[in-house]
Amino acid sequence: MPHHPPVSEPRHPLATRASVLLSSVFGPYSQDDQYGSRKANPMELYQNQVTRLQGAFSLRMFHRSFGLMMIKENLDAPCTLLDFPTLPSFTEQIRQQKYDVIGISGIIANVGKVKKMCELIREYQPKAVIVIGGHIANKERLDQMIDADLIVRGEGIRWFQRYLGQDDKTPIRHPAAFSGFGSKSMGLELGDGPKDTAAILIPSVGCPMGCNFCSTSALFGGKGKFINFYETGDELYDVMCGVEKKLKVRSFFVLDENFLLHRKRALRLLELMEANGKSWSLSVFSSARVLKSYSMEQLQGLGIGFVWMGLEGEESAYDKLKGVDTLHLVQHLQGNGIRVLGSTILGLENHRPAEMESIIEYAVRHDTVFHQFMLYTPIPGTPLHEEHQRDGNLLPESEFPFVDAHGQYRFNYRHPHFENGEEENYLLDAFRQDFATNGPSLMRLFRVLLNGWQKRDLHSLRVQRRLSRESAPLRSTYSGAVWAMKMYYKNDDGLWTKAEELLTDIYAEFGWRTRLVTPIIGRYILSRLKKEELRLAAGESYEPGFYFEENASAAALKKGHPVEEQPNRIPEISAFPELAC
Ligand code: SF4
Repeated sequence: MPHHPPVSEPRHPLATRASVLLSSVFGPYSQDDQYGSRKANPMELYQNQVTRLQGAFSLRMFHRSFGLMMIKENLDAPCTLLDFPTLPSFTEQIRQQKYDVIGISGIIANVGKVKKMCELIREYQPKAVIVIGGHIANKERLDQMIDADLIVRGEGIRWFQRYLGQDDKTPIRHPAAFSGFGSKSMGLELGDGPKDTAAILIPSVGCPMGCNFCSTSALFGGKGKFINFYETGDELYDVMCGVEKKLKVRSFFVLDENFLLHRKRALRLLELMEANGKSWSLSVFSSARVLKSYSMEQLQGLGIGFVWMGLEGEESAYDKLKGVDTLHLVQHLQGNGIRVLGSTILGLENHRPAEMESIIEYAVRHDTVFHQFMLYTPIPGTPLHEEHQRDGNLLPESEFPFVDAHGQYRFNYRHPHFENGEEENYLLDAFRQDFATNGPSLMRLFRVLLNGWQKRDLHSLRVQRRLSRESAPLRSTYSGAVWAMKMYYKNDDGLWTKAEELLTDIYAEFGWRTRLVTPIIGRYILSRLKKEELRLAAGESYEPGFYFEENASAAALKKGHPVEEQPNRIPEISAFPELAC
């Protein structure tokens, strides 16, 4: 039975015959411009807020606009997607092709870009309905800042299906797509193929933990709320098998705020993986308490190789951390081969300048493979933002432009204990100290991979297959990278020793072949590393390529075929980088 929306929900008169264009905001992104791009806020997640000060060792990588991809694949109407267009390529598209509905998604810092895109649409496509979604939809008075027809908050797949008169109860079609692209580190391209990159998997959106600052939780309903695209382990397993077949991958980046929280689904997935001998690797987000509720055997069985976990700060009052010794937890996970990305917030209510040194030292002591540092920032839509708004603490736009409220620069409110922008220095100190003490994240990653490999005998053959696959590059490329790191740090006793010890352990584990090839590969990597340093010193930055994709209906329409009913299928993603803007 098709779902009949409440009368207040808008419906497009052309229903599934409407032609739809979806677009992310235009680039370039890593520059300071009049539309709100900021050099300090590039489109690369890791460079932006994780390995920010690791120079040529930083992990550079882009991620697609997965929300738009999911919407496109679940529409029966012909739908075209532009991901990371430039202003000229976006303009060209709307000049050349007529659309009935144009949807744009962005974050709050993108208001200037969305405003410009709306103006262009009004100029070239005055009849098109403009729909705005994503985090930007939570910006207060957005309707007065931009010229749009509909501003949609929350989950967009079902909204678009209802808007276009489609049944919104059919199973969600999952795109087969890689989780990242353009990956680089130490001056080397890390490859975007199935062996190098995980596929994206989106089982749910939202997180019921509802931490007061969390904008992703708030976007999908906040505390106690979440939306499952796949309710059961069986459904998820089928989706994963489809993606595995299509992309030839064996690893998945699970884009779910708190994947392991859905315990029944996760444990059923584990059963199916065991029964079918799947040695998949899963990278997940998980809160600490939830993670701790699983045994190491279960985590290894599920293929959990990477966890993004909130550490927030010592003695922070979040439920998700109650009773958890995060130092011990990280040590336990990493000692068993599970790479941890720890996330620390600076500037919590109880933080004071005098304590920042010990707060940073505590965070750095975790020695996680990756460490994200963010300023405690009220984002519109979150309970924290509501609280500051109520108390009149938020800085007006004239004092602090909201495009700079991305958590990597300054507080966008009057903090009771910090003044004059000193928080930026603490933030940079945290990144610096983590890097200076623990070394490049890649070196930490290799150590943790080795830990996992050395404990392989504790696990089933199925798990051993994964550990063997994940640690295989330690025999050559990764050991070469460690050799290059050792040379690079010849004047830094601490990090030289760290690299030397790791290399000794790798040699002991993998023998003479590794010992033989390592210096040859290492010399090459060292030369690339130095070249990359020069490139970065000259001010070079990276931008994502442009993706143009169509769903099956749009492709069929182009070929002159009638639009047909869409079976539940894994669609093909075609992409081509833009060569020139
Ligand atoms: S546990 Fe993580 S994802 Fe969930 S609400 Fe808190 S910060 Fe957000």
